[in-house]
Amino acid sequence: MKSGWQDAAADAMAAHYAKAGIGRDLALRVYTSRLLGQEPRLVLHGGGNTSLKTRLPDLLGEPSDVLCVKGSGWDLAAIEPAGLPAVRLEPLRKLRARSALGDEEMVRVQRANLLDPGAPNPSVETLLHAFLPHRYVDHTHATAVLSIADQADAAERCAELYGGRIGIVPYIMPGFDLAKKAAEIFEAAPEVEGLVLLKHGIFTFADDARQSYERMIEAVTRAEERRARQRNVVFVPRALPPRIARVSEVAPILRGACSEKDAKREGAYLRLVMEFRSGAPVLDYVNGAEVERYANAGVVTPDHTIRTKNYPLIVPPPTRPISRATTPVACRPNACSIRCRA
Ligand SMILES: [Zn+2]
Repeated sequence: MKSGWQDAAADAMAAHYAKAGIGRDLALRVYTSRLLGQEPRLVLHGGGNTSLKTRLPDLLGEPSDVLCVKGSGWDLAAIEPAGLPAVRLEPLRKLRARSALGDEEMVRVQRANLLDPGAPNPSVETLLHAFLPHRYVDHTHATAVLSIADQADAAERCAELYGGRIGIVPYIMPGFDLAKKAAEIFEAAPEVEGLVLLKHGIFTFADDARQSYERMIEAVTRAEERRARQRNVVFVPRALPPRIARVSEVAPILRGACSEKDAKREGAYLRLVMEFRSGAPVLDYVNGAEVERYANAGVVTPDHTIRTKNYPLIVPPPTRPISRATTPVACRPNACSIRCRA
């Protein structure tokens, strides 16, 4: 993966936002956030988050130390300064002294400390950003990193891949406990350039926008190169019936099985539009003898949990002529990857 940083583009963005009174540091935060967001190997739509520690005037014009962190509802690929709401930094850091903090209380404290009360909710990972000392913190759910960090022996694999350059954080649900654990691991080895969060993603950081971003690119590239050196997974194929039904024969049955009654309209159904794909990697995957096992292992990144849902509907190979015996009985609501076009 190559760095997308270009001095001229960075300077142009800084000059553009300077006209609106926005400082260069925040403009560069927007610039590198967009670079991350525009690369699907790093994040999918809405995934990942970034932050900047800076000083901004509050509503009374008093300068305040703040954390500008991605707000909910914003996509990194097209983020604007308004998508990085400013939260007073000191109150966030004081929270670290607590022994426990629920998500609702955490959101209340974060909202209460926004410089602009009308700003969107700061990211659920705000405290992790706040507890780290660096001015710039970048976070993605890079597929290549997670292909290693999702493994059962991920800690050993990541340690071997990154040496001492990246700290390793065990899996904890995003929130207060994860933020505290990540800060502890950083402080035990403050020379690290980032943290891999097992079964979650990767953080990189620096006091310079370009360096923080390029540390991300470098760490992900290292994981991609490792993956390229490994042998490709070969799915052992299953025996297929001699005559497979056409998409036009199967699709209406699947649509019917996956339709749901519309609770708001008497007698109406919510139906899905289907998209059919049959590229070589897709066929290799769906024709595997063990597809039930590996397709139900869960998706690779948190972004895919939103994008495709965690579990697909798996149906037997449809034979021609199509018979009732080969049709699915029911779709698992909210858990099916063919719900891609609601
Ligand atoms: Zn995350």
